[in-house]
Amino acid sequence: MYCRFCGREIEEGSGACIYCGRALMPEPPPSRMYSRDFTKLKAPAEGKNPKVASLLGFLLGWILLGPVGYIYLGQWNWFWIAIVIQIFAYPLTAFIGAYILLPFVYAFHQYEMAKEVNKLVKAVEAGNDGGRKAGQE
Ligand SMILES: [Zn+2]
Repeated sequence: MYCRFCGREIEEGSGACIYCGRALMPEPPPSRMYSRDFTKLKAPAEGKNPKVASLLGFLLGWILLGPVGYIYLGQWNWFWIAIVIQIFAYPLTAFIGAYILLPFVYAFHQYEMAKEVNKLVKAVEAGNDGGRKAGQE
């Protein structure tokens, strides 16, 4: 790997750079909510707009298609999780509770998820640079 600060090659996993002496922070751990394999977020090719994600979840939520917002975010696993939750939520709440609540839940959750997704995209981009962009930060 390369030092993020001076760009010189150093031993993989080093805690500090042997050339410039700066501490190299490990990758930030993913938030706990998404740490299980099944709910793990995947990094899509590019960043996602949290507002678009939120709006999709909210608007489509009213026509029972709120989970589609997760496809926009590139998270098929969450699309299926949401579909399953919906299948149970509607009958359990006599349609009314889930119908009113879910658009707001999707709007909030997809907004937050877009931010997490963008962090992942940035982390992948930083990794691809191999630290050669050192000094630009
Ligand atoms: Zn260095």
